[in-house]
Amino acid sequence: MKIKYLDLKMINHASKHELMEAFESVLDSGWYILGNKLEHFENQYAAYSQTNYCIGVANGLDALILSLKALDIKTGDEVIVPSNTYIASWLAVSYVGARPIPVEPNWATCNIDPLLIESKITGRTKAIMPVNLYGQAAQLNLITEIAKKHDLFVVEDNAQAQGAVCKGKITGSWGHVNASSFYPGKNLGALGDAGAITTNDENLNNKVRIIRNYGSQRKYFNEIKGVNSRLDELQAALLSVKLNVLDTQNSQRIALAEIYNQHLQNVGDLTLPTLADSCTSVYHIYQVRTSRRDKLQNFLTDHGIGTIIHYPVPPHLQEAYTELAYKSGDFPIAEKIAEQTLSLPLYPGMLAEDVYTVIETIKKFFNG
Ligand SMILES: *Cc1c(COP(=O)(O)O)cnc(C)c1O
Repeated sequence: MKIKYLDLKMINHASKHELMEAFESVLDSGWYILGNKLEHFENQYAAYSQTNYCIGVANGLDALILSLKALDIKTGDEVIVPSNTYIASWLAVSYVGARPIPVEPNWATCNIDPLLIESKITGRTKAIMPVNLYGQAAQLNLITEIAKKHDLFVVEDNAQAQGAVCKGKITGSWGHVNASSFYPGKNLGALGDAGAITTNDENLNNKVRIIRNYGSQRKYFNEIKGVNSRLDELQAALLSVKLNVLDTQNSQRIALAEIYNQHLQNVGDLTLPTLADSCTSVYHIYQVRTSRRDKLQNFLTDHGIGTIIHYPVPPHLQEAYTELAYKSGDFPIAEKIAEQTLSLPLYPGMLAEDVYTVIETIKKFFNG
């Protein structure tokens, strides 16, 4: 590809010197699990998220699962999730034995539609799990109000939007517990798997800490049946370096997205990203939609431009969820997004010149 969808090597090479130093410092410390690198990153990410606590865990899916476990959500419970999220949000709910209850997104923003949530609340509903999709904050102000009114927990899936805000308040700070992923391709990406939970609740902080480390506070004394889901010292040290440049990199993403926004307006039948009132995006993904998606993707591939489809099949139509017996047509907005969505190249450090080449190539496609 002449223009890659994402260039992780380039992103990480921008901090190569600091990353190598962090690596050496962990190597030389002789201490690799649950040490002061993790403690430092947890403090740093709690401060960034404007929450009292951060608990590092092994990955984003575990961050969601441990959040639900800490809230004691289990078999027989229901959790409201977007119908168009990455499947991890649903899997976490299923993993603790609860049932994901899909709610359609708003077509313009692609985030869960707050107006459709209340009709899905039943006596079994325990929590709402908004997802800040593509890097845009969901309407967390409205969602937390609904949760409060119905006495429900909020678990933010903030895997994609570290740094976005709703009503001036940062994502990852709205829920009772909030889950983050630091998968390499995420805005705050490790050099391997990593994740974290943020919360303001001291009790939930303690619970998650115990669960992630075998259900134990004191080595070899186990209070509950926990798991091994720790964020290791090496990834924590690397993440501390990456967190220092996150805001700069998010600004670069936003600047590139604005070029796309400006020049792709009224091109073919493209639908461009739309922000909800008082919500910002850190453009984890720059998504466009078109009825000629597959043809456009092929055209871009032929011109050496990498793209990705996030996501081709919504969770309710995945084979993994045949047990829920949903069929095509049950969640038409999620299905239409899956049919039309295409993610264009965008990453911090990408040349504006390359963004213009993508734009020109897309115009060529639509204008023949
Ligand atoms: C990436 C992602 C996850 C899972 O994170 P991992 O670190 O890959 O386990 C969860 N939810 C959403 C929306 C994601 O994009």
